[in-house]
Amino acid sequence: MRIMTLPCDGIGPEIMAATLEVVEAANKKFDLGLSFHEEESGFTSLKNHGITLREDVLTRARTEFDGVILGTQSHMDYPPVAEGGRNVSAGFRIGLDLYANVRPARSRDFLPNKASGMDLVIMREATEGFYPDRNMFKGVGEMMPDPDMALSVRKITRHGSMRICREAFKLAMQRKKKVAAIHKANSFLMTDGLFLECFREVAKEFPEVQTEELIVDAFAALLVRKPQAYDVVVATNFYGDILSDLASELSGSLGLAGSINANAETGLCCAQAQHGSAPDIAGKNVANPTSLILSAAMMLTWLGEQRGVQKLMDAGNAIAAAVDKALDDPAKRTRDIGGSVNTDQFGRFVAEAISAA
Ligand code: ATP
Ligand code: MG
Repeated sequence: MRIMTLPCDGIGPEIMAATLEVVEAANKKFDLGLSFHEEESGFTSLKNHGITLREDVLTRARTEFDGVILGTQSHMDYPPVAEGGRNVSAGFRIGLDLYANVRPARSRDFLPNKASGMDLVIMREATEGFYPDRNMFKGVGEMMPDPDMALSVRKITRHGSMRICREAFKLAMQRKKKVAAIHKANSFLMTDGLFLECFREVAKEFPEVQTEELIVDAFAALLVRKPQAYDVVVATNFYGDILSDLASELSGSLGLAGSINANAETGLCCAQAQHGSAPDIAGKNVANPTSLILSAAMMLTWLGEQRGVQKLMDAGNAIAAAVDKALDDPAKRTRDIGGSVNTDQFGRFVAEAISAA
């Protein structure tokens, strides 16, 4: 199996190196037959090719690779979008139609957290909403009819809503059989209204699943008040983006949360940390690589489930277990969660735990 890797900007290269050390250990241990191929993106690609993400990289990811591990992109040091600063995340999500951004948030008893007993997954729609990939949909998304007025257009489709809701219910069937739909249909009658209509339609296909509809602002408060009450949470792109940061921070730290962008119809999957490029700590070997390591583990598990390959699922689960084992030991924690271990050292601890298991 071929995996494309794109370290990108900021702490991306550091957390990618640690992640690859871990995935390589699982590759050996479980005889996965993975090979890794690095591609340029972000600032390096901008310098060498005039654009942060080349179309042919996306085409090859779609046609020649089984999975992608994506680093983090800086949003600080680029010229304006028109000069080649394409959003790499949106490029992958929209370009590969990776509509399901799966973002778990789980508190661990042995780490400081603000949400004891929380174990939920936010199923965020990732190809529509307010987020256009400007290089693909020129002019759609935002516009300025005059210099003193800017407009933002939010695209919600029946197709997009049906398929993300179906993913949420499918996931709930493997978990506690509960799905909460997040909306603001009281204000956005058409967009959130259509999303809710689709949610109710899909719910009929899963009579065993308990459903709940929550207005986004109320849900933000409820998530803090009773985080343990939720199982799968399905949301459109923008709400899902914000709520997943809230949930992962409640779980302890943004640096602990893995995520994948996936399309169950094409079988394509991209692992991506939930956090950004952390420019304040880039190049210092202090970032916590947990988020990207767990993202890669989620990708292996997901690919294993899609293809019915047990050893991929075993490898994904083994990586997640090894991460928990390392985090459980205060002497193996990175700075953001109160320790003093470096990025590369943490990767080595996790890789060693996998090899030794
Ligand atoms: P970007 O525009 O790329 O999102 P940002 O300035 O928003 O950059 P984030 O990456 O979102 O930065 O990070 C927000 C804060 O969390 C920063 O202080 C950063 O150092 C910290 N942080 C984010 N990821 C990690 C990580 N993996 N390890 C340690 N700290 C992190
Ligand atoms: Mg950020």
